[in-house]
Amino acid sequence: SETNNRLSVFLKTGIYRFESSNAVFIDPVRVLNQSYTQFKVSPTAYYSRLFDSKKSTEEEPRVSKNSRKRKRKERKSHTLNEKERIADQRHKDSRDLLLKAHEALMGATDLLAIIRKLRSGEEESKESLLPSVEQSFVELGSVWQAPLYEITLNLHQEDQPTQSRGSLLVENCDQRVIPVFNNLVINETSSDAEAEFLNNKYVIPKESCFYMSDLRQIHNMIPAESDCGFNLIVVDPPWENSSAHQKMKYPTLPSRYFLSLPIKQLTHAEGALVALWVTNREKLRDFVLNELFPKWGVNYEATLYWLKVKADGSLINELDLFHHRPYECLLLGYCGEKAVDSECLPRLTCMPDDQVFISVPGDYSRKPPVGELLQEYVPGFMPARCIELFAREMMAGWASWGNEPLHFQDARYFSGN
Ligand code: SAM
Repeated sequence: SETNNRLSVFLKTGIYRFESSNAVFIDPVRVLNQSYTQFKVSPTAYYSRLFDSKKSTEEEPRVSKNSRKRKRKERKSHTLNEKERIADQRHKDSRDLLLKAHEALMGATDLLAIIRKLRSGEEESKESLLPSVEQSFVELGSVWQAPLYEITLNLHQEDQPTQSRGSLLVENCDQRVIPVFNNLVINETSSDAEAEFLNNKYVIPKESCFYMSDLRQIHNMIPAESDCGFNLIVVDPPWENSSAHQKMKYPTLPSRYFLSLPIKQLTHAEGALVALWVTNREKLRDFVLNELFPKWGVNYEATLYWLKVKADGSLINELDLFHHRPYECLLLGYCGEKAVDSECLPRLTCMPDDQVFISVPGDYSRKPPVGELLQEYVPGFMPARCIELFAREMMAGWASWGNEPLHFQDARYFSGN
C-alpha cells in the first residue's frame, strides 16, 4: 500500500513525506548513514537527549523554577513592544502551518511506532560507549602550537583490489600524516577513512573534506576559479544568545562578524542556494533580511521550519511559549546573478514558503541534515558542490568548515560494523 511504501522509503533514506501535506519527517541517523560505507552513526549517541525522560533539556522550561518568571512574561505579553508584536504576528501566521504538519505526524501511527524505537534501532557497539575524553578543537586551534598538531588519516585505496595468489583480496591502506588546523584535509576515496588525533579516533566519510580554522582564515576556502565554487552553502553561525548553557558549548560572535563571510566568493559561477539557520529573535531576522543577505549578495526566497518533537511525537514545548518555541527557521536565498535570472532556473522547483520538516533533536544546537531536502532547489550541475560553514560534522560530497568540524566525527558517535 501507499503507507507501506512511504515507510520503506523512510527506513532506507530517513525521509518520510506525508501525504498531501507540506511536511516531512527526518531521521538524521538514517540520512547521515548514507555518507558511510563501514561505520554507522550510533542512534544511542545521536538521540542522547529527548529519549531519556529523566533528563530534562534546556529547551524545556522547568515549570516549578520558572513559574514566577513566566508569570512576569505573561503579564508582559499584554504590553509587547514593537519587535515583539511583529514576532508574535509572525508566529501566529506560521501557527496553522506548524499545527497541520504536526497533525500529519500524529496521524501516521505506523511511523510513530518506528519513531519511538529510533534510539534503539541498532545494536550497541563497544566503541560508542567508550568514555573517551572529547577533544576541544576550539581550544587546541587557538594556541601557538596549533600549526604543529597533526592528524593521521588511514585511507583505503580503491584501485582494483589486488588478487594475491588466487583468491585472497589484499586491502591497501594509504596513511597520511598532515596538519589538522588551517589545512584542507580530504578523503577523496569512496570508503570511510579512519583518522587518529591525540589518542582519539575519528571517522571521515567518503568523498568529503574539512578545513578546521578560525573565521579569520575562511578566505582559504575561496576557490581559485569560480566554477570550482559551491552550489549549496549551509550556514549555522554561532549567534549570540543569553543561554548560559550555550556559552559552555561553543564560543559565539556578534552578528556584525558574519557580514564579512565571503559568500559571493564561495558561490559557483552557476550560482548557489544559501541556507541560513536563525534563532527566533525578530531582531536577528531583521538583521539578516536587511543587512546580512544584501551584503552577501543573497536574494531572500523562502523560510523553512524545523519542528522539534520528542520520541512520542509530541512537541518539545508548547507551540505558543514565547521564548521557547519548539521550532527554528532556515532562511533560503539565491546568490549569484545566474541563479536568479537565467536558463538554469526552469530546472529548479519553485521554492515553497511553507515547508515544515520534523525531527527529534540530537545534541545541543545540532541541526538535522537538510542537504537532501534542498537538492531540488540547488542551481547548477548535479551533483551539487556543497559546503557547510560553522560545521560540527562531515557528510559525503560536502566540504565542512568551522573551528570544530570533527566534533561529531569522534568514534564515540559511531558503531562499527
Ligand atoms: N550546525 C552545527 C551542528 O549542527 O552541529 C552547529 C553549529 S554551532 C551553531 C556554531 C559553531 O561555530 C560552533 O561549532 C562554534 O565553535 C563555531 N565557531 C564559533 N566561533 C567561531 C570562529 N571564530 N571561527 C570559526 N568557528 C566558530
